[in-house]
Amino acid sequence: MIIVIAVLIAVGVIVFILAVRATDLPAPEPVSPFQHLDARKAAIYDNLRDLQFEYRVGKLSDQDYQQTKKDLQRELAGVLAEVDRLKLELNPNGAAPPPPAPKTIDPLTCPHCHAKFTQPLKFCGECGKPMGVTQSCNSSA
Ligand SMILES: [Zn+2]
Repeated sequence: MIIVIAVLIAVGVIVFILAVRATDLPAPEPVSPFQHLDARKAAIYDNLRDLQFEYRVGKLSDQDYQQTKKDLQRELAGVLAEVDRLKLELNPNGAAPPPPAPKTIDPLTCPHCHAKFTQPLKFCGECGKPMGVTQSCNSSA
């Protein structure tokens, strides 16, 4: 009885090892998901080029050409959308970086000397420089 159990365990271990190896080996993950998508994109571009060539030499009818072109372009759009989605997934902040605090124009604070006033002024009462939008006026250099 003990021998049977031992054999069963041994067989189980061997099967387990083989199963792990089997699942490990045939999954050559691409280095980057973009590599795979880039390859597909390149293939679609190649197909479009070939299609155009065949159309020019008269191998394809106008209808076939338009239909195939549409299919390829739809596929290409899908690949590009996938690239965008992956980019967003890998780097959520990279795709749409939040604007780094666009210089807040505070009409009550002088941008030059930072003096604060109780009402909006065109020119600073402290240093006399123009308040608010400062760059659009004198940037004709
Ligand atoms: Zn000032």
